[in-house]
Amino acid sequence: MISKKIGQPQIIVSLDSSYTPVGQCDCDGGDCACDVSPLATLTSDIQFSPGMLENFVRVPNSQIMNLDDTYSVCYGTYHQVTVLNQSARDLLNLFSNPCNLNDIALRKSDFDAKDLQTAIQKLYQAGLIVPQKNCSFNLNETPETLTAWLHITDRCNLRCDYCYLPHLPSDMSIETGKAAIESTFRSASLNHYRRVRLKYAGGEALLCPNVIQELHLYAQSVSEATNILLDGVVLSNGTLIKPEIIEMLQKLNLRLMISLDGLSNFHNMQRAYAGGKNSFADVERGIKIAVENGLIPDISITVTGRNASGLANLIEWLLEDDLPFSLNFYRENELSATYADLQLEESQLITGMLAAFKVIERKLPHRSLLGSLIDRTNLASLHKRTCGVGQSYLVFDDKGQIAKCQMQLHKTVSSVDILDPLKVVRQDKTGIQNLSVEDKEGCRTCEWKYWCTGGCPLATFKATGRYDIQSPNCNIYKALYPEAIRLEGLRLIKYYQATSTN
Ligand code: SF4
Ligand code: SF4
Repeated sequence: MISKKIGQPQIIVSLDSSYTPVGQCDCDGGDCACDVSPLATLTSDIQFSPGMLENFVRVPNSQIMNLDDTYSVCYGTYHQVTVLNQSARDLLNLFSNPCNLNDIALRKSDFDAKDLQTAIQKLYQAGLIVPQKNCSFNLNETPETLTAWLHITDRCNLRCDYCYLPHLPSDMSIETGKAAIESTFRSASLNHYRRVRLKYAGGEALLCPNVIQELHLYAQSVSEATNILLDGVVLSNGTLIKPEIIEMLQKLNLRLMISLDGLSNFHNMQRAYAGGKNSFADVERGIKIAVENGLIPDISITVTGRNASGLANLIEWLLEDDLPFSLNFYRENELSATYADLQLEESQLITGMLAAFKVIERKLPHRSLLGSLIDRTNLASLHKRTCGVGQSYLVFDDKGQIAKCQMQLHKTVSSVDILDPLKVVRQDKTGIQNLSVEDKEGCRTCEWKYWCTGGCPLATFKATGRYDIQSPNCNIYKALYPEAIRLEGLRLIKYYQATSTN
């Protein structure tokens, strides 16, 4: 029985909001490193029951944004994004001061006791209320996955304007690849990782499909022998996809990420072939072949000053086929610096992104976009560092030397022969420093800090000469985050409303 006057509290949360596309590496975009671990977890699971005297209180750092006349979305550091109707919001407000189930029952005497108990249980499960005593938030900075970039080849058939590679005619040998895999599993074992993720990358990794096949079969055998889980993804420009390639990837249980920056010319103008020929038609065909043969690729979009105004059409196209995607911001490098029009001009970029968000609002996908919508940000999962660089990431060049980030492939700090290369990478203080967001000036007091984490350290250093400061994209992030939360709220209403009521 529900009060007609007040209405039934609706508390809508999603269990799949941490979805992030593959290749995005759990938290990151495009071809970056990453592993995010939950930062906050409640210490105990509680079943509410009549007569329970324990006091509960509203979780700290929680914000509410109106979605429409009926619903609000609640977001905050220590709980999941949750949609509440007015009745649930009123109920939550009662916990602004500590109170127990009996206090609430007295103040909500027109509610059925069972319904009330269920609604409070849901507020608790969503993390919106916590016990007044004995509740702590744990910071877990121990990622479960060690990610390794295998630079299968430096060669590529494309010449994307933002590419950071010299495109030398140099491939990884099977011998070097196997040594890199052994090295990764050694570090995984010595540092107690549960899983290894291999990224077969380049250049264009699919120029060497046989190398990928042999190496991944070897990785599977090492995984079995060491009892460490294995995950693998091929990062591709999409031009060389054939049904046989898809069949191979499927047999190997490998995932596929394809780069696509726009429809037609919005893609062509920054991702052309080495001879200058357009590549869009071939990438489109590659995506189609993958989908028709049962392998759904993750689409990685690099957003630049050039293609921002074409994002909306691209997203519309991707959503029509329900393809997962991630939007990653361009990062200048030494080779791309001459292309001034790739630079991210704030208002232009925000306008392009918001136009894309409008399309998403009309065609809300089933999967959550919290981990893939805005550059390095993961709004679904709290974390302290933007990526795994210097922590849980190894980048092997084609000679078996190890760098910290694929964009600094030439700055090697270790090699396949070292017993525990991860230890060397973690101890290195000379190159890129991937600081905790708590150590970044401007970020410490930011409400978004544990989702944003201050952006790509390399991009920040390039723009400011410092690692300990907020991202040069900070204004863009702050303009987009509330919109991304709003979209998630609308998505929850669309897909979970019917099953959410108590
Ligand atoms: S430092 Fe930047 S480019 Fe390198 S892996 Fe991290 S987020 Fe990606
Ligand atoms: S970069 Fe900006 S939005 Fe991100 S955590 Fe730092 S201050 Fe906040």
